[in-house]
Amino acid sequence: MKLQLPDAHGLARLFSSDYFQARNQFILAADRLGTPCLRQSIAHPLPGPAGEQLSLDYAWIGDPEAPRVLVTQSAVHGVEGFAGSAIQLDQLLNQDQQDLPAGVAVLHIHAVNPHGFLNCRRVNEDGVDLNRNFVDFSAPAPANPDYEELRTALIPENLSAWDQASDRLARYERDWGSTRFHQAVSGGQFSDPEGPFYGGAKSSWSRQVLEKLFVDLRLAQRSRIAVLDLHTGLGPYGYGELICDHPPNSEGVQMARRWYGANVAEPALGTSSSVPKLGLIDYAWQQAFGDKVCFLTLEFGTFPFIELMESLRRDHALHKAPLSAADAGQLEQVRQSMLKHFNPPTTDWQEAVIFRSRQVIQMALDGLSSEELK
Ligand SMILES: [Zn+2]
Repeated sequence: MKLQLPDAHGLARLFSSDYFQARNQFILAADRLGTPCLRQSIAHPLPGPAGEQLSLDYAWIGDPEAPRVLVTQSAVHGVEGFAGSAIQLDQLLNQDQQDLPAGVAVLHIHAVNPHGFLNCRRVNEDGVDLNRNFVDFSAPAPANPDYEELRTALIPENLSAWDQASDRLARYERDWGSTRFHQAVSGGQFSDPEGPFYGGAKSSWSRQVLEKLFVDLRLAQRSRIAVLDLHTGLGPYGYGELICDHPPNSEGVQMARRWYGANVAEPALGTSSSVPKLGLIDYAWQQAFGDKVCFLTLEFGTFPFIELMESLRRDHALHKAPLSAADAGQLEQVRQSMLKHFNPPTTDWQEAVIFRSRQVIQMALDGLSSEELK
């Protein structure tokens, strides 16, 4: 059954105005589903500004022993959680009207990075980009020499030199070409804790929680797992691109093509808005579940990359030093700019997100049930 898209009022309800509203709505909707749903909260070590609890929450819907599982993840990049949470809430609110295919369960993981979601930042409580944090920290950190070259153009020492720094960045892009430039900036770096796309120096809280969930939910015993990791901020406005970072020609790519057809874009082949990156959360799923998992990023585009960079650079420049009360005005300005880029508050964008997410989730469910299990 095709469900009608929500009207403007319904959309505004799905897209929460802050992390706490998103969390409450997720919990309420999951609990209203009744017995076929198992919901858990995993408390974050840091409280909110008024002592509130932050948490990663998850809801498992359907048979606990189901051999096939569809997983959605929201807010790996905190501020991108508004759309991800809206998608998960839309799914939960309509779950009663949609039977799951036989042998399929759904796992919604809400707010993988609750601290970033709360503060409207991409990074977590330690300034770490979770989606670059999944590297082997017992080995030497991966190098990104191009990042070192443009580091001071990204966040200049002296903020009065901002415009000159922006000009230098534009020159790098012109000289290096788009792919090399994007990889230098956003491919991941492990040397500049104050800069954007920093992968960290150790396994983050969110990574540890996720890896424990793999065990607690016995995911290795399942036969097929479809993961949709929900992101925003890259690509054409309103388009939900399915990004596949499985190695070229791997079973993961084959599965993605069987299930999602020509929707699949591959950074390794240059067919995506994204470029190949270090330390992606994808790699943890691929490593843990091998050929049984098909992991795709569903990335909703908003505004051009140069605007993304301007917002991110301002955010990182501001958080470089400890914030004081005097920074309140600037902090609010940066928050608003991050919100505008990662969560455009317009009905057309929100409608596109909900339409596309329903379409892709249906493809994932159909794909999962169509697989012959050995
Ligand atoms: Zn993202």
